[in-house]
Amino acid sequence: MNLLTGKVAIVTGASKGIGAGIAKALAAAGASVVVNYASSRAGAERVLAELAVADCKAIAVQASVSDPKDVERLFAETKAAFGRLDILVNNAGVFRFEPFEDISVDEFHREFSTNVLGPILTLQEAIKQFGFEGGSVINLSSLAGSHSLPNGILYSATKAAVESLTQGLSAELGARGIRVNAIAPGYTRSEGTEAEGLLGEENIKHYISLTPLGRLGEPEDIAAAAVFLASDASAWITGETIRVGGGAR
Ligand code: NDP
Repeated sequence: MNLLTGKVAIVTGASKGIGAGIAKALAAAGASVVVNYASSRAGAERVLAELAVADCKAIAVQASVSDPKDVERLFAETKAAFGRLDILVNNAGVFRFEPFEDISVDEFHREFSTNVLGPILTLQEAIKQFGFEGGSVINLSSLAGSHSLPNGILYSATKAAVESLTQGLSAELGARGIRVNAIAPGYTRSEGTEAEGLLGEENIKHYISLTPLGRLGEPEDIAAAAVFLASDASAWITGETIRVGGGAR
């Protein structure tokens, strides 16, 4: 059974990592997908090529989620291509792990603009496009959203804000049939975690020791939860943050 046949989804930050995994899983469940990216055109095209092989309708749109004009264009191109919108996955996110005293004003703005302002701008546009049936919004938080990490205080604060937005917006938008949920992934293999130097042998051992199911997460693990939250199988669930991390807290 294709849970998402006839639905249209935007996935922000889908050129790599967890976002790419979510885009592929939504497409495999029958959705048409907009693969958003900021700078990795080649990555977005690789994802599109995989979706084409699977016979899915998909487009790639470059847009920075923290730029209101870009976000407006992202949604205009979605409407032009598919004529409707049902699912918004706010996955685009940035992180840097460093001691508290090293946090710069620039890094504060980079993380809050992408991780918090981004989902606000995209959801403001999505509301205009969701039809009378409403829509499903899935925000990517992190285990760090409810358990602030040493050397990751700033990132944790952005994800705590994402969880607060999720709960508050579910209440504000519920009457319009718009469900808003979040996924809080555990330690997950991605290009971003690799680039930040978080996937060295010692780190991996440490993450696995904190994870009862005994391995790192893969983008596919997170994507399965996104398909559930996007579909009518979760029609009675809103305002929740679901941890998807092999039992890690
Ligand atoms: P990656 O760094 O692998 O991928 C990040 C994606 O976000 C890329 O596609 C990137 O696009 C995009 N992006 C960055 N800035 C912008 C922007 N301004 N506008 C649009 N797109 C942007 O990250 P992960 O896959 O690891 O993480 C995905 C999400 O999951 C994030 O929100 C992250 O915080 C969260 N998460 C990840 C965990 C992990 O262990 N990996 C754990 C918990 C949460 P481009 O390449 O074009 O720049």
